[in-house]
Amino acid sequence: MMEKWRKLFNEEMESVTSEGLAALHEEKFLAQVKYVSEKSPFYQDKFKQSDLDVSRIKNMDDIVKLPFTIKSELREAQMKNPPVGAHRACDVVELSRVYSSSGTTGIPTYLGLTARDISDIHAEAIARFCWGGGIRPDSIVVNIPTAPFIADTFREGIEKTGAVNFPTGFNTDRVLSAFQYQGANALHSTVSFWSYFLGEVEKAGLNPRELGIRTIVGGAEGGTKIIRPVIEESFGATVVEGMGMGEQCCTVWGECVQNRGTGMHYLAQGLVHVEIIHPETDRSLEIKEGVMGELVYTGLIQQGMPLLRYRSRDHVKVVSTKTCQCGRGGFRIEVLGRIDDMLTVLGVNVYPLAVKDVVSKLAPRVSGNIEIQLEKPGSAVEPPLKVKVELGESPGDKAELKKRVEQEIRSKLIFQAKVELVDELPQYQYKGKLIRKLYEE
Ligand SMILES: [Zn+2]
Repeated sequence: MMEKWRKLFNEEMESVTSEGLAALHEEKFLAQVKYVSEKSPFYQDKFKQSDLDVSRIKNMDDIVKLPFTIKSELREAQMKNPPVGAHRACDVVELSRVYSSSGTTGIPTYLGLTARDISDIHAEAIARFCWGGGIRPDSIVVNIPTAPFIADTFREGIEKTGAVNFPTGFNTDRVLSAFQYQGANALHSTVSFWSYFLGEVEKAGLNPRELGIRTIVGGAEGGTKIIRPVIEESFGATVVEGMGMGEQCCTVWGECVQNRGTGMHYLAQGLVHVEIIHPETDRSLEIKEGVMGELVYTGLIQQGMPLLRYRSRDHVKVVSTKTCQCGRGGFRIEVLGRIDDMLTVLGVNVYPLAVKDVVSKLAPRVSGNIEIQLEKPGSAVEPPLKVKVELGESPGDKAELKKRVEQEIRSKLIFQAKVELVDELPQYQYKGKLIRKLYEE
């Protein structure tokens, strides 16, 4: 059947492949470097310190001449020039919103946006992501967000697709009646909510398939490989994940329905330029299949607090650079983990997320929750690595299960683990913590 809606939300941008990016981004990039050098006290200072003459930045390739920006610099900069900080590049009157998010150190981090930042960057990218996940103007999307920032920008992104935004909050009864009586047919929420909601639907004695949910979109939390088929099968819906970085753009990455489960497309063409750098040498790598490294983001049109070469600390692998069946030209990536979480066991790189994935495959004997325990500071760990594994609904023979988990880890991830099975691990409302430090920091 011919679909009555267009294939991509923004055909002109989303069909561009990695080869076309330099040509597409160059003009915007040069204009942005000029804007930042004139308006951002933070970058004026930074350029001076690194002896950078911005008039020597002449094309997209010259991006490597710019210094990196890291999160701790922003934390320092935000105390200077309030509101937002020394990296604010517009007048206060032009700011339209300021968000604060709880930082790990206890001091909130601030994000200042102009009206154009909101509509042309965040809402635009979210609309592209939602469209890729199957949301169309005839969708009615129950929108259950996490933080205020995501709540607002998802509302704007959903509305930009032409779909109906239907906020319900976390009230299960209201979510249920939106689907039962109001014709809602799509859901945006965190991954954790999917399983919670499924449990509630079953508890209420309802058939999840009869709720009419066809499309589910959510943020990538990792470890969703196990839960996705369960959710899709139970509701009869398709599930896609997206990922971004608040400081730059809510969703720079998103799966498409056609190839879900095999990497997220780059979908922020014209909004945020992406580099992948070698995690140790910091060299910018050519984007081709199999390349692994840290994602570095450069905003191309940000007004409020523009950031250049912002290091994400996300370690990823390029899965494909070919134009997809869905029509998107954006290369696809798989997230390997947070660079700061990476451990080495006898020279083997270990990502906690990868351990979680391997363990999760043994569900329902295990729940899929794990906790890696570190006894000493530093990323080098002497084997065996201690891993707590939470038991699932039907664990079976526990002694055999423990052995099985240890064997799976050794064969799939090539390091030795000592597994302790536990009835319950601490629950986290948002992203689960995978590492516990047993020493004083
Ligand atoms: Zn695709």
